[in-house]
Amino acid sequence: MGSILGFPRVGQNRELKKALESFWGNKSTQNDLESVAKDLRAKHWAEQKGLDYVCVNDFSLYDNVLDLAYALNAKPERFKNLSGLEGYFAMARGHNNGVACEMTKWFNTNYHYVVPELSESDDYKADVSLIRAYYNEAKALGYTPKISLIGLFTFFGLSKVVGGNPVNIFKKLKVAYLELIAEIVKLDSKVVVEFSEPIFVRGICKEIFEGIDVESEILNVYNTISESGVQTIVSTFFEHSKELTEILVKSKIAGIGLDFLYGERNKESLQIIAESDKILYAGVIDGRNIWVADIESKLKLLESIGSVVPKDRIVVSASCSLLHLPFSKEGENKIEGEILSWLSFAREKIAEICAIDKAYRGQVDSQVEEFLEQNKAVNLSRKNSTKTYNKAIRERVESYNIKDRSLPFKERIKLQKEAFNFPVLPTTTIGSFPQTSEIRALRLGYKKGEINKAEYEKGIQAYIKDCVEFQDSIGLDVLVHGEPERNDMVEYFGEQLSGFVFSSNAWVQSYGSRCVKPPIIYGDVERPKAMTVEWITYAQSLTKKIMKGMLTGPVTILNWSFVRDDLSRQEVCEQLALCIADEIDDLQKAGIKVIQVDEAAFKEGYPLRAENIKDYESWALSCFKTSVAIAEPKTQIHTHMCYSEFNDIIKTIEALDADVISIETARSGNELLKVFKEVGYTNEVGPGVYDIHSPRIPSVEELVAQIKALLEVLPKEQLWINPDCGLKTRKWEEVKPSLINIVEAVKQVR
Ligand code: GLN
Ligand code: ZN
Repeated sequence: MGSILGFPRVGQNRELKKALESFWGNKSTQNDLESVAKDLRAKHWAEQKGLDYVCVNDFSLYDNVLDLAYALNAKPERFKNLSGLEGYFAMARGHNNGVACEMTKWFNTNYHYVVPELSESDDYKADVSLIRAYYNEAKALGYTPKISLIGLFTFFGLSKVVGGNPVNIFKKLKVAYLELIAEIVKLDSKVVVEFSEPIFVRGICKEIFEGIDVESEILNVYNTISESGVQTIVSTFFEHSKELTEILVKSKIAGIGLDFLYGERNKESLQIIAESDKILYAGVIDGRNIWVADIESKLKLLESIGSVVPKDRIVVSASCSLLHLPFSKEGENKIEGEILSWLSFAREKIAEICAIDKAYRGQVDSQVEEFLEQNKAVNLSRKNSTKTYNKAIRERVESYNIKDRSLPFKERIKLQKEAFNFPVLPTTTIGSFPQTSEIRALRLGYKKGEINKAEYEKGIQAYIKDCVEFQDSIGLDVLVHGEPERNDMVEYFGEQLSGFVFSSNAWVQSYGSRCVKPPIIYGDVERPKAMTVEWITYAQSLTKKIMKGMLTGPVTILNWSFVRDDLSRQEVCEQLALCIADEIDDLQKAGIKVIQVDEAAFKEGYPLRAENIKDYESWALSCFKTSVAIAEPKTQIHTHMCYSEFNDIIKTIEALDADVISIETARSGNELLKVFKEVGYTNEVGPGVYDIHSPRIPSVEELVAQIKALLEVLPKEQLWINPDCGLKTRKWEEVKPSLINIVEAVKQVR
């Protein structure tokens, strides 16, 4: 037996994605969609047969935070008159009535939830119908269900208050939430609910709950729920939650779920749990990384937990919902056998949990014994494999000492200005140009072997040529090649580095119907040969203007991959940094004078606990700096980050010391730029002047106004003018006039 907090929803072959997109495209009916969803739930429960319970309500047509908002009737004003699936998808994806709710990252994962908008004028009321339907479905199939529900505090903490007093909103929400619970109690006399309260892995969050006596509210809410007859488990994950545990042990709940992998300090709570009567759902199997568990070491961890908390009160559990994992290894044919044997996706994790539980309780039959033996062998093969360890790479990382540019910015920029002689307010773009269906077909055809190398290269070159000619013709100052050879900014580099593998079907939900297939870093990373030089030098050969080389930074490659767990993230990142450094050196030797190193995911790696931030910042910063330090003073290094909020990380951004940084501030006028001024930021900045995420074409007048607003914050010597992100998701019909207008607006302002 054992427990998980949730199972991936999209299906083994992304059935949910396909059903959703067909429904949204009016190619199928609501009934069709619901029948696919029902099938998936049944399949996913079948996967959980060996566990104590099957999870219900972990499934969602789009997002489980949105589900709860909907179940509480927490709808924004603009969608109040919509109901059913129309209202639900309106909040997720927008509607004629208004724009979608924002979406943001679920803690430090790459899953995005829909941010509920709360207002004091809302009329919260509970609607249990969906949860009831799921519950009864599972019962009818003979399963013992456990309801997964986002806790009230986490729901409130992740929402955005758009009107009225947050304390009053919390009170109203609490009433509706408890109404929902009252309905849930009616489902079953022994109903079990696992409440996710990850908000408390950041501490007790006094700022979020300002004006609310959060400790007594936690007790009050969870006591009320427990007293109503719900078997109550409260879980956290991704970090420790010692402060919450101190409160929960005094409550009437039945169980506490803790993550002992990403929240090692939860061990410090074991004593008070032992002294209480709580069941401990011990998260010892990694719910968010893909490596096969080392069962021997897991058993040791359980023994150490069990030396404090009585064994009969410990339930072997995953560290978090398996939502963040691919479905299963079945049918995976792209990864070579030995490496594949080191991997474990959602289905395989469940098998591990069951086996560990049996081993822990001394219930080892021949089947379990075989499983344990195999597990031992796999871990041994991984540990001793020559595939994961490369002495030369380790030694090079150890001894590499070019960790900072040779001259300070003030002197570099003088040399660069002399060399480039850019006009005031230089214009550029972020790298990619529209990914047309022809370009996608070309890449796919080449990958499948339907198109030979010469034909492929001819096609890519033709696209690059079009891009360069267009940029030249409209008068942009620093050009790009357009990235037609890249399917994805991380995958493209990963595919050319050693130590990476790519799956054929290991999809993970990113949001709604969007799935990603993160690269897998299994071994030491090295760059066998130049990755971008040919394309960039070809592009440069087509123009007298400066061609910007385009790379993805080490921190972003790390943060968007599944990373090996037998080496620290810092060490993996250091290896990646040297690959990028080598590429920069090759580019500058080939005559490329401006190079952009994208760090779109730099911020995503930030730890959840304030106490761990310093450490991350220090190594992530040093890896970025190492990756660009090889650049000669007159090679201009650009970086790009896809955020608008820089307040909390501005000091680190400053320390990156890129010559130019382009950022995503288009949607907020010049407000967000002010922090750069406040800290006395001296390097150059390109604060996106239009939002590429919308198909709208910005007019010359509005761009002029936008540029003038920027000039009120930073001096002209410091500013670049560019869109706020890459253009690959846009159409040429949108990109062409938009860029023409940018160049015209800059002309007028100049
Ligand atoms: N250079 C990349 C592009 O233009 C950057 C993408 C990103 O910031 N996410 O597509
Ligand atoms: Zn971006």
